[in-house]
Amino acid sequence: MNIEVPNYPAPDFDAPPVLALVIPCYNESESLPVTTPVLLEILDRLTAAGSISSESYMLCVDDGSRDDTWNIIKTLNSSDGRVRGIALARNRGHQNALLAGLMEVIGRCDAAISLDADLQDDPEAIVAMVEEYHKGNDIVYGVRSARTTDTAFKRTSAHAFYSLQKAMGLETVYDHADYRLMSDRALRVLAMYGETNLFLRGIVPQIGFRTAVVHYERNPRVAGVSKYPLSKMLSLSIDGITSFSAKPMRWIFYTGMVTFAVTLLVAVYVLCSYLFGENTMAGWTSIMLSVWCLGSLILMSIGIVGEYIGKIFAEVKHRPRYVVREAVW
Ligand code: UDP
Ligand code: MG
Repeated sequence: MNIEVPNYPAPDFDAPPVLALVIPCYNESESLPVTTPVLLEILDRLTAAGSISSESYMLCVDDGSRDDTWNIIKTLNSSDGRVRGIALARNRGHQNALLAGLMEVIGRCDAAISLDADLQDDPEAIVAMVEEYHKGNDIVYGVRSARTTDTAFKRTSAHAFYSLQKAMGLETVYDHADYRLMSDRALRVLAMYGETNLFLRGIVPQIGFRTAVVHYERNPRVAGVSKYPLSKMLSLSIDGITSFSAKPMRWIFYTGMVTFAVTLLVAVYVLCSYLFGENTMAGWTSIMLSVWCLGSLILMSIGIVGEYIGKIFAEVKHRPRYVVREAVW
């Protein structure tokens, strides 16, 4: 097997980075014309302040939109070369579109910030993220300080999901969606995770390096409607848990063990009834014993098989086992 030992040199955190703003866009023809000038103005401001390079740009990823999004990206590009775009062959969903954009900017930027096309992620937090980068952080998480603009349902369901993730042993950042800065070397490490069921919020904390958090308020959408219906939210949550945790399978085994303990009590009761009771029907004892015994044995066996599947599941992901942060020779 070809063992690759990644040893990426630390970026020069003091130099103004070439910053890439990566924006997944699905049917965003209404919001892009509003979003683009706002983001370009922030790039101008940061460039003028000397905190980012003048070669910074934004990359819009058209995730197989059915509306005019791609034409709009092309028009924006012809009026300002800093607006760049790639169009995916078909709709692949937010996580894949975002990954496509992040992989595209590897080697073409020093740091990338991913954000939504609807400016729900307050763009002013970009300034704070760049500041944290200059302090030597490879990854800066945008964390929502309030969820006042979300509906009560979205807020409660999201919090329930974060708690569930925690119970399942996932290392995710609470109230952080996909608004974050990543240095070029953090992106290169991300590229080593070859998994198909993508849950970036679970993978990024595994990358390591120095990280920081920036708080921001989540705004309402600037235009258009949400492309994340409940069905997509649910499938993201299930992907998140099943891609990172084999715990549900272990619970089957525990349930089997508990059931087996109960079986022992049931066996005592059933045998006592058989020996001393008067009204046990013929066949009751044997059926009771076999139902409980077999039931708990089957549960435990499934749990044991699950443990092995959990191991296979971890192996096939081929996740990097370690990444070197710095070295002195
Ligand atoms: N998005 C995407 N592909 C999809 C769905 C959404 O690229 O299949 C993009 C969308 O254009 C937006 C971001 O993902 O930039 C977040 O989506 P949205 O704002 O609709 O989600 P919400 O904020 O309502 O959860
Ligand atoms: Mg949104």
